[in-house]
Amino acid sequence: MLGRSLVPDQQPQRHSTGITSNADAPDYADQPNGGEPTAAPSASGSTGPTEAGQDGSGRDAGGDKLFGAHATTGSSRLALTFDDGPDPQYTPQVLALLREFDVRATFCVVGENAQNHPDLIQAIVNDGHTLCNHSWQHDVGLGARSADAIRSDLLRTNEAIRAAVPDAPIVWYRQPGGAWTYPVVSVASQLGMTPLHWSVDPSDWDLPGAGKITATVVTQAEPGSVVLLHDAGGNRQGTVDALRRILPDLTARFELEALPTDPT
Ligand SMILES: [Zn+2]
Repeated sequence: MLGRSLVPDQQPQRHSTGITSNADAPDYADQPNGGEPTAAPSASGSTGPTEAGQDGSGRDAGGDKLFGAHATTGSSRLALTFDDGPDPQYTPQVLALLREFDVRATFCVVGENAQNHPDLIQAIVNDGHTLCNHSWQHDVGLGARSADAIRSDLLRTNEAIRAAVPDAPIVWYRQPGGAWTYPVVSVASQLGMTPLHWSVDPSDWDLPGAGKITATVVTQAEPGSVVLLHDAGGNRQGTVDALRRILPDLTARFELEALPTDPT
């Protein structure tokens, strides 16, 4: 399973989420296969055309291409993550379902969507969910740009989020398409954000239908899973419908958490 090989090298306690000083530390030495951590591949070479503008397609982003990004929660808890929003049609439906099942999750929001829908950012935070920076406009090639360009993109996104919720903790960053590079991991860490990947991916962005999304999540979920879902970026009714089936199952088997915003 994607990213599983990262786990043994993680520290036994929950990961600190407020890392600000590890850009030059050997934190990324836990890459599998003894790869070359400083060799940043071109983002275009690590993502296929079919996933342009979306996340998922773990086959292109797994293993040695994670650059140390977290793919699990580091505990027995399972985390649901919702990418690419907020979206005025689907995010409120997701929030209502999470509320119904008393579940907190993490929303990986796109900066320009946050700017356009500050009310939804506020609703996410008010419901107790946590936030993750997902870049300004979902540029899957962001990791191939200069460090300054990456930094500007991530900061602009955080500013848009904080325009809605001034004190919002933003301690996670997820690279669009999972197209990690060493520079994007490094800059995110310098800005106090821990790179976040995933371990369960039903490819809901590819519209497989609610049944398939549900089946993939409930069969692949295990303690520590980070589940990738999308509440924006296209027709997400399948995801919403799947969530109504997924939540009763997962809440019966696991403790679900919003990824933490405080170092522990
Ligand atoms: Zn995305």
